[in-house]
Amino acid sequence: MMWNSTTLRKVEGMAAYRQSMRAAFLPGNDKVELRTLPVPRPGHGEVLLRVKASTICGSDMRCIYHQHLGRGPEGYQGVIAGHEPSGQIVEVGPGCRRFDVGHRVLVYHISGCGVCNDCRRGYMISCTSEKYRRAYGWQRDGGMADYMIAEEKDLIALPDELSYADGAQVACGFGTVYEAIEKIGVNGDHSVLITGLGPVGLAAAALCRKRGAQIIIGIEVVAERLRLAVSLNLCDFVLNADSDNVAQVRDLTRGFGVERAIDCSANAAARSTAIRATRKWGKIAFVGEGGTVEFNPSPDMIHDQKSIYGSWVTTTWLMEELVERLVRWNLHPAEIITHRFSLEDAAQAYALMASGRCGKVAICADEELTLK
Ligand SMILES: [Zn+2]
Ligand SMILES: [Zn+2]
Repeated sequence: MMWNSTTLRKVEGMAAYRQSMRAAFLPGNDKVELRTLPVPRPGHGEVLLRVKASTICGSDMRCIYHQHLGRGPEGYQGVIAGHEPSGQIVEVGPGCRRFDVGHRVLVYHISGCGVCNDCRRGYMISCTSEKYRRAYGWQRDGGMADYMIAEEKDLIALPDELSYADGAQVACGFGTVYEAIEKIGVNGDHSVLITGLGPVGLAAAALCRKRGAQIIIGIEVVAERLRLAVSLNLCDFVLNADSDNVAQVRDLTRGFGVERAIDCSANAAARSTAIRATRKWGKIAFVGEGGTVEFNPSPDMIHDQKSIYGSWVTTTWLMEELVERLVRWNLHPAEIITHRFSLEDAAQAYALMASGRCGKVAICADEELTLK
């Protein structure tokens, strides 16, 4: 099918859309492959989205882009990449109950069976159905395309005050750290340490700020990211990652350490720092994936009555709550997007993300691309 104006298909009440589309695949070896495919039609309970913003995640790098390392829920099955999509509905399949053509939405990035215990809790990330659990961009086609199919039950309504790029940020990173922040209960009583200031760490800082945290300290190795955390006023203090970090954090907190820490680095040394720089009765959340950690349970945790939480993605209902709060807080997650590319330049976008010399990197279309 040619990519031209003669292939436009009319949708009632909506701009026409095309019958063929471009889509990005990640075959490994740091490659991005763009293919032209027919635009799919939504089946029962599904919608077709015009993808407006689709951001690149650290997990795409870790498990897919360089080589296909993931297993199980992180096993990439050669589908259209991208699990952080946001867009506008251009067609609804039969049986949809809530959403309609024209609605602005973001996609919770894992489609679960909907009826297992985890799905009923809203944690489709943890769906136990081998047959029905399929993550967008991993086991089913994702958002690095002009159009995508999503199941209606995976959609979160995007308030008018938020841009599509804001929505894409909520689909994975902001949703994930919001869950961790809820688990350890960050509020105005707290100083917070964030280890790792990649997009997820920056998101954690932005949300902790709005939750009222009084001192936010960030640790990172990449200079660009340290600068970004300061220039966006997300951290009050930033530290280069090194072996003195625990002492430095204690110095910044009257010798006590922080009340809350969130690891977004997945680095072994940074994780021990997060534990050791947290004061008695403090809480630590591990969000960064992969790697290991070493600490001494008695002095580092048990005797100081500390708790360490693991936190993986979030629930659909908490994502709905988050978009409402973002509007209330006037917080725009797209602010941590430093680079926007069109789908044609997806290879450049992934290469930049792989270098780490950036904040969040987004593939955008239509009005979102011109917001550069
Ligand atoms: Zn992600
Ligand atoms: Zn399930």
